[in-house]
Formats: sequence, C-alpha cells, structure tokens
Amino acid sequence: MPIPSWKSGLQEIAPNVFAYIHGRAGADICNSGFIVGGDGVMVIDAMMVASMVRPYLEEIRRVTDKPIRYVVNTHHHVDHALGNQFYLPAEIVSHRGCREALIDRGADVETLNQRWPEYGEDWAETRLTPASITYEDKMVVHLGDRVIELLHPGPAHTYGDTLVYLPQEKVLFTGDVAFYYLTPLARDGHISNWIRVASGILDHLDATTLMPGHGPVSGKEVVSKTLRYLRLVKRTSRLHFQRGASVEEASRAMRLGEYAEWEEPERVMINVQRLYQEFRGELPSARAMSFS
Ligand SMILES: [Zn+2]
Repeated sequence: MPIPSWKSGLQEIAPNVFAYIHGRAGADICNSGFIVGGDGVMVIDAMMVASMVRPYLEEIRRVTDKPIRYVVNTHHHVDHALGNQFYLPAEIVSHRGCREALIDRGADVETLNQRWPEYGEDWAETRLTPASITYEDKMVVHLGDRVIELLHPGPAHTYGDTLVYLPQEKVLFTGDVAFYYLTPLARDGHISNWIRVASGILDHLDATTLMPGHGPVSGKEVVSKTLRYLRLVKRTSRLHFQRGASVEEASRAMRLGEYAEWEEPERVMINVQRLYQEFRGELPSARAMSFS
C-alpha cells in the first residue's frame, strides 16, 4: 500500500498551538511547531535553510506579532537545527547533548551541498548557531500562563533528544523520537533505549495530539508505528547477529512489511549497523527517563 497524502501547511492543533506540516516526509524537511504564549512565541524546530524558514516566519507573523522568544531544537540534525540563526535574537534551547553534537558535527557546506544541491544558494547563508540555553533532564518554560515541559527522555533517536510536552493541552511534539512515513533512523541513537522511551510515552504520557518530526499530525499511533519498526529491526538483527551474519545479510533478510513503503527504507542498514554496535557493547550507556 503506497503512503497516503495528508493535511499539510499550518494547523492549529490546540488553542494558539500550531503545527507547520510538510506534504512529504523527506529527510531534508522537518515539521516545525510554535506556541503563542502571553508574552511571546516558542518555536519547536528551526528547519534547515533560509528558503524554508522565511515563508514560515511570514506564517507566524500572520498569526501573531509577539516576539519569538525561544527556539527549541528537538535534536542536532541539520534538518531540524541548522536554521537556528534566522530566529535570532531568540534564545536557542536544547538538551546539552544536542548542543554538543551540533558543535561536534559542524556544518560542512560542501558536504551539505553535495547531498542537497537544490539548496545551493541557501548554504552560503548557513551559520551554525548552537543553543544558548541547555538543560539536563527536564526544563519547564512558563510562557504567560502556558506551561511547556521540555523532557529529555534518555537517548533514543539521538543522545540529545527533547520532547516538548504541553500537559494542559495534551499535546506532544516528539521530534524524531517518532516518525511517520519516513523510515526511523538510529545512526546517532540507541535503539533498545528508544524502544523503552517509546513504550514509556505510550504507557505513561497523557497526550492526544502528536506532531512527529516528519509526517502528519496524529494520535499516539505515530509512536506505536515507530516502536513496531524498531522492535522488528531489533528482533531480526539480534537473530542474525547471534548467527554471525553480516550487517548486509541481516538487512537483506529484513521483512519490512508496511515500512517498505515509507521513505528511505534503505536506512534499515544503518539501523542494523547501530544495533550490531549496541550488541557488541560499543555504545555509550543509556537509560530511559521514568515517565510514571
Ligand atoms: Zn529529522
């Protein structure tokens, strides 16, 4: 079954809480969200380049003239965090691990241009802008009387993931802890812990409206779908690892089912590779936060 189309553009998912959703689930474009509070705006994920951010800023300006006070990076990947500079003088906020990884990874314009030549003009404007404010486990921002929780669930998609949770509105911005119609990617993450984190969200976090990093707004099923993919890949990888099969063999043996239709199914090999590293004890240790 091919992947369906979904509602794209700006959507008000709770009073004064918006999701800016792209019509396809590519690795170059992430969803963004913003929250209008009493005295300012918080943006969740900056996106990547000027040609994406400028039309978005116009959309925000159509909704509110309050200043953008905070930009939260859900993690360090370029599609989410490379556009930070276009929101200055807002404070950029992320988990410490996200800031470190962003600085560590840098922004090599040549490599980026090779991968996405369609943004050729944009790359010249790229200025790496890591967080000015970081936190460790949890931070609460009070935007007027709006309560916004930034939660580090433990390493999942990356070692610096942030969930943005609005307990009053039961809204959750998952970043890439949940994917919809784009294959989940664990190159910088920890799959077994990601499985624990996703289960924790399903069992203990009271959320009814979720915006994933890529794909449509949904209910908790976006987390279940991501979880099922991760479990499938882990189960098959473990079997093949124990048999001494190579990463390539394990990847070829994978029966992806519905996930074969998701964008970039070939990411499975990167995920198997990461699991092999995990099975060999090569990854830094990881612990999921307690959601209960
Ligand atoms: Zn992403």
